[in-house]
Amino acid sequence: MERVQKVIAQAGIASRRKAEQLILDGRVAINGQVIRELGTKVSKKDEVAVDGVPISSEQYVYFMFYKPRGVISAVTDDKKRKVVTDYFSDVSERIYPVGRLDYDTSGLLLLTNDGDFAQRLTHPKHEVEKKYVAKVKGVALPQDLKPLTRGIRYKGEKYAPARFDILSTDHQAKTSIVQLTIHEGKNHQVKHMLEAVKLPVQKLKREQYGPLTLGNLRPGEFRELSKKEINAIL
Ligand code: URA
Repeated sequence: MERVQKVIAQAGIASRRKAEQLILDGRVAINGQVIRELGTKVSKKDEVAVDGVPISSEQYVYFMFYKPRGVISAVTDDKKRKVVTDYFSDVSERIYPVGRLDYDTSGLLLLTNDGDFAQRLTHPKHEVEKKYVAKVKGVALPQDLKPLTRGIRYKGEKYAPARFDILSTDHQAKTSIVQLTIHEGKNHQVKHMLEAVKLPVQKLKREQYGPLTLGNLRPGEFRELSKKEINAIL
């Protein structure tokens, strides 16, 4: 037996806290009966429904999305800003982003309704390689970026070793394009790592997530992942 909010969270429908709210709001039913008790437990045989839709009836879906800048990596926003799921209005499954990209960061973001898949990919021990391209202020030299290859501490946070490549430099504008490959997914990680070596980020894009690249997708576009692609990331 599991608490119903845990079952809802594991199905990838909402965080545990939001699942509790769904229960309090009377939107959750067990075997057709609306429940409002947070402690309610269910077994695998019980049918749990949210807004009348049984959670087990949902097929898992997996998308790759080219998130534009100026979009929140969430399914709702208090300030009513655009959220990534606004682009998926034709998709009936209750999908949500796997991890996050900052509001002003563009690039590859996965969305799914498979809670296990999302949890595995965002767990620190599951080290998916992520490649970012940043436009930074300053003329980047290899010796500036070298500390990042050994790992650094910055503002009380520890960042594991990263690989870098300096793609180009505009000497007149004093800006550079730097590629950084990391394995973790800490908050504002790339911005913090580059700020730590005095190359503040002006623009950031995620180009690769594990073996997946954006390919022909343009900002705001998405496509479903193939079975082969899904298996390749796990
Ligand atoms: N690192 C950042 O600083 N921001 C992102 O959105 C992703 C990685």
